[in-house]
Amino acid sequence: MRRRKRWKRRWRKRRERRSNVPTLCALCGLSYARSRCRICGRPVCDDCMGESGVCKACAETLCELCRRNLAIGRCAVCGRLVCEECSVQLNPVIRVCRECYSKGLRPVYKPPARLALLVERMGLR
Ligand SMILES: [Zn+2]
Ligand SMILES: [Zn+2]
Ligand SMILES: [Zn+2]
Ligand SMILES: [Zn+2]
Repeated sequence: MRRRKRWKRRWRKRRERRSNVPTLCALCGLSYARSRCRICGRPVCDDCMGESGVCKACAETLCELCRRNLAIGRCAVCGRLVCEECSVQLNPVIRVCRECYSKGLRPVYKPPARLALLVERMGLR
């Protein structure tokens, strides 16, 4: 009886240690996560962790100007991903980044692709 009890205690100890094993990376699932993403909070490995504590998945949706906030759209002039703080909403569909806005740049009207093709064809004939 005594022996059995001791064995049980040892087993529990080992289990506790197991729960402290670092979690696997939430992105690749191959390496152990060493840090957490600042934005989504997922545990990620060094390979999947981008610059400034943001995981690669979040880095793709990060504002390209401040690199701090999640982007909500693209600048209609330069095409960079911008967050609410770094952009100016010109009208319900057009958003321009602060840099372009301060330079006085405004999006040029681009005809829809189909129309542009039609114009090109007509020019050739
Ligand atoms: Zn990873
Ligand atoms: Zn993330
Ligand atoms: Zn920003
Ligand atoms: Zn811009």
